[in-house]
Amino acid sequence: MVPTDEPAGDLSRQTVIDRVTRRAWRDDDFRQLLLDDPSTALQTEFGCVPAGFETATFREREADRVISRRKGSVRHVVVRPKHGDEPLSVVVRDMLGAHEMIVVLYTKRCAYQCSFCTLPLASALSDVSFEDVKAQLERALAFAGDSTDSISQVSLCNEGSILDERTLPRDQLEHALRTCAALPRIRDVVLETRGEYVTESLIDDLRRWAAPAAVTLKIGLESADDRIREGILRKKMDLGQFEDVVDLLARKDVGLATYVLLKADPAHSDADGRADAIATCEYVKSLCRGGRPRLTLRVNPMYCAAGSPWARAAAKTGWTPPSIFDVAEVMRAVMTDDVRVFAGLSEEGLATKDGHYEARQDFEHWALDALARFNRTGNVDLLDSVARHRSTGDSLLTSN
Ligand code: SF4
Repeated sequence: MVPTDEPAGDLSRQTVIDRVTRRAWRDDDFRQLLLDDPSTALQTEFGCVPAGFETATFREREADRVISRRKGSVRHVVVRPKHGDEPLSVVVRDMLGAHEMIVVLYTKRCAYQCSFCTLPLASALSDVSFEDVKAQLERALAFAGDSTDSISQVSLCNEGSILDERTLPRDQLEHALRTCAALPRIRDVVLETRGEYVTESLIDDLRRWAAPAAVTLKIGLESADDRIREGILRKKMDLGQFEDVVDLLARKDVGLATYVLLKADPAHSDADGRADAIATCEYVKSLCRGGRPRLTLRVNPMYCAAGSPWARAAAKTGWTPPSIFDVAEVMRAVMTDDVRVFAGLSEEGLATKDGHYEARQDFEHWALDALARFNRTGNVDLLDSVARHRSTGDSLLTSN
């Protein structure tokens, strides 16, 4: 049943789109009216034409996902339109002194179901065509506009593993890398993947396609503790295989960036979370001796992804998110001259209301701002200002 009692003046753009999409999916006459005479259709649905929709037109698009649920006598329908020619997101920013473009491609979704992650839900259930992937890259470059000429690093991901052929076929991957390689100031291409898709011959291809840029692989280890990584996070990721990949990257002069989760066990106290994250960082560092492969540790404060199995477990244990100060303290404890660190400050819009560091009582905006500026510049004074803030109280040397 479509609600009709919401005042039109309070409607957000997304609410309007959601309502007309839902109704058009169930009501053939309304769908035709929407295409032929949008104003009349909107008046039918809302009693007036909502602000911002005065000249709106609508067109049909293939649906990628339709979820229908019955609650009592009411059927709720969620329709996700296919948008194969648009990347999921494009961001242009500075990252540790590099001018970076991050492109999250819209591809077939990740087949894994890690307990803490709901990212794959944004991706397609079916294959996305080569033409669409090309269009996504063109849109990303158009978005970057004039700054394209100064981009020195491109990070390519697809909310899964970009090296998984089932989500991004090899010809599409090659095209994406050659597109990056053609940027005038490109120095690094960063590819996010699980380790099992990494082979020696593929590494050779990646380096050839990305040349003259160097290649870095970003792999989410999350925790070196098997109990946490396998038993709780359900990563299905073998440590021995990870070590083989790190060894291969070192031999092939390919960089490694690794996600490390902070407070990844729903039973963790703050001190447990810090200890596990530091142990994981030290483990990865021990594999990258002598600066090979070059390493960036990306410390991600755990957030509670709404609707995930992990969130249900966290609700039972009373888990609270890690503090922004924990993030800085862990980063400061593990960084060295050879090892770069980076704070994963985004919860990608997926966290529950109280499931992210900003919900903590000790959250401070200045600390977030300092870490964000550290991420952009690599200025260690900024990191220190946050990491040392609690030195007279709760610190790495005290536990809660
Ligand atoms: S953590 Fe990675 S492998 Fe696991 S479900 Fe999320 S995107 Fe897929």
